[in-house]
Amino acid sequence: TSIFSAVELAPRDPILGLTEGFNADTNPNKVNLGVGVYYNDNGKLPLLEAVKAAEKTRLEAAPARGYQPIEGLGAFNTSVQNLIFGTDSPLIKEGRAVTIEALGGTGALKVGADFLKRLYPSSKVYISDPSWENHRALFESAGFTVENYPYYDAATHSVNFAAMKAYLAALEANAIIVLHACCHNPTGADLTAEQWKQVVAVIREKNLIAFIDMAYQGFADGITEDAVALNLFAASGLQFLVSSSFSKSFSLYGERVGALTLVTENKEESARVLSQVKRVIRTNYSNPPTHGGAIVAAVLSSSALRQQWEAELATMRERIRAMRISLVEKLKEKNVPQDFSFVVKQRGMFSYTGLTAQQVEQLKTEFAIYAVSTGRICLAALNTKNIDYVATATASVIG
Ligand code: PMP
Repeated sequence: TSIFSAVELAPRDPILGLTEGFNADTNPNKVNLGVGVYYNDNGKLPLLEAVKAAEKTRLEAAPARGYQPIEGLGAFNTSVQNLIFGTDSPLIKEGRAVTIEALGGTGALKVGADFLKRLYPSSKVYISDPSWENHRALFESAGFTVENYPYYDAATHSVNFAAMKAYLAALEANAIIVLHACCHNPTGADLTAEQWKQVVAVIREKNLIAFIDMAYQGFADGITEDAVALNLFAASGLQFLVSSSFSKSFSLYGERVGALTLVTENKEESARVLSQVKRVIRTNYSNPPTHGGAIVAAVLSSSALRQQWEAELATMRERIRAMRISLVEKLKEKNVPQDFSFVVKQRGMFSYTGLTAQQVEQLKTEFAIYAVSTGRICLAALNTKNIDYVATATASVIG
């Protein structure tokens, strides 16, 4: 018999399964609102001009492809610190931030999770209810028990902050709390600056460990505006972890560019932490690939390319916002009974629309519009050509 005969078929990834169904659909009006990527108004995945320019320069220089250091490209890691904390951050000056280049935001979370498991083997991990669908499995695969803290309130379409705070305040010391820095996936509901202050206070008081996932910096209000939670943690004097993803903000999904930053107590602690994080990396994938990080570093460290990138990021952010506003207006025009104005308040690529699993199913079978059964839609999959169709179909299934 085969050495693999005992292997059972794993369940299909629900979101990738949706895309398979979409690809097989022959309806010319089909729309995939289930995706987690940014499409432009032509429904295409963009290659940013700033990225194109940096790639052209790199191609002409034709660099050799030696191994990178275990922690990745130094220029990339420095650029990431400047991006997330600001160039004048005392954290950086004091040597309290350790950054390693990771394989996307997912890779950053996994390196951080493996490192924390060695340090706090009996800690539990707490993720928001609901959270990005990979958070639970990722931390479980690092050996942790994962629980949910209260987060989204479907009745108000926003965060039930009182419940979240009370829950965190009752946790045991060294519990690991995974927080979405901005543009919460899947709900689109974020904390206010005032609420973040209270989260920082609870984390300090209860000796909790914050792991901040920042996958959408620049997609809500802007680069610095979206770092409000990070800045509050940075100013607190606490130690914490940050995973960054450049998949969305640079439209470099397949290049797998991300970073893990650990904020320590002092420079000497940073050296010890880095040495242990490097052991995690070395035994996992040894060192990161060269291209994506080099491109992001080139864009971030050239003032012209950085300016161009920020303008392109603003275009993505504003287009998503325009789609939110337009969808709400169109639903209103169609006299749907519900008030959808909350969709404009939600931030980032996603919205929990409140559509039921049955309505989502109806959208698929009657209109070839694909969404996640939780009612999550990706606003960046809407464009000026398909939004009327989506609004009409949505009004029809809820009417
Ligand atoms: N965290 C969150 C909240 C995300 O939404 C995503 C991507 N969808 C990631 C992490 C992973 O990012 P990456 O694709 O760069 O691995």
